[in-house]
Amino acid sequence: NLSAKNLNVWFGEKHVLKNVDVEFPKNQVTALIGPSGCGKSTLLRSFNRMHDLSPDAKIEGTLTIDDLNLYQKDIPVTDIRKRIGMVFQKANPFPKSIQENIAYGLRINNLSYNQSYIQKALEEAFLWDEVKNDLKMPATRLSGGQQQRLCIARAVALRPEVILMDEPCSALDPVSTLKIEELIHKLKEKYTIVIVTHNMQQAQRVADKTIFMYLGEVKEEGKTYDIFNNPVNEITKNYISGHF
Ligand code: ATP
Ligand code: MG
Repeated sequence: NLSAKNLNVWFGEKHVLKNVDVEFPKNQVTALIGPSGCGKSTLLRSFNRMHDLSPDAKIEGTLTIDDLNLYQKDIPVTDIRKRIGMVFQKANPFPKSIQENIAYGLRINNLSYNQSYIQKALEEAFLWDEVKNDLKMPATRLSGGQQQRLCIARAVALRPEVILMDEPCSALDPVSTLKIEELIHKLKEKYTIVIVTHNMQQAQRVADKTIFMYLGEVKEEGKTYDIFNNPVNEITKNYISGHF
């Protein structure tokens, strides 16, 4: 399991995450919802230590994957990023060919591969059939939805345990969105998935568990069905019904 205990994050004076306790169960999809600015991306980024790059960030708390403390001094960040993949709102393929996107990702992480391995990663992301004749084409020529699936293929090629997705569909059309939801549904058999989304229908379609955040705190969490049908907190009720 991936979890955070008593996580606090500051950017300078700004206290952005406040005593956050979360757990993302294995082989489940967890949706992270809440108004803009409540700290969803900050929470995801805490897990793969992306705040290490911001000099004014201060982080306290315990973040673990299984028994590994993610902020242990002696572990290289690359080890963490192999175990915890990340997919962003805006697909960000390398400015390279389709197959090089998978291959390069593996090389920079010192993982070996061959052509059939590249094929497998593309198959796993439901992309192989669409690109098998264009493997040397620049990835930037793919459609937005295909680029996003390529980024997912690049993440799964590293054999992570967890894939964190920060609004993976918010720049996509409805058909591409449904394709990615279908993919998420399949990926959870192998991976732990966390998805940040502003789309309440999407959360209900894909997530087993839902966590609602507000002003840097976890306000409510539970089975997705319960959060959307019997929310306890008044703020959760207002948010999911669109009164915000
Ligand atoms: P959205 O739904 O709009 O993506 P979010 O829930 O992902 O919002 P975050 O991006 O986590 O919100 O931001 C939470 C708060 O932290 C915001 O007030 C934001 O301005 C602030 N913040 C995020 N990153 C930094 C940073 N590197 N330096 C300073 N402030 C930051
Ligand atoms: Mg965000």
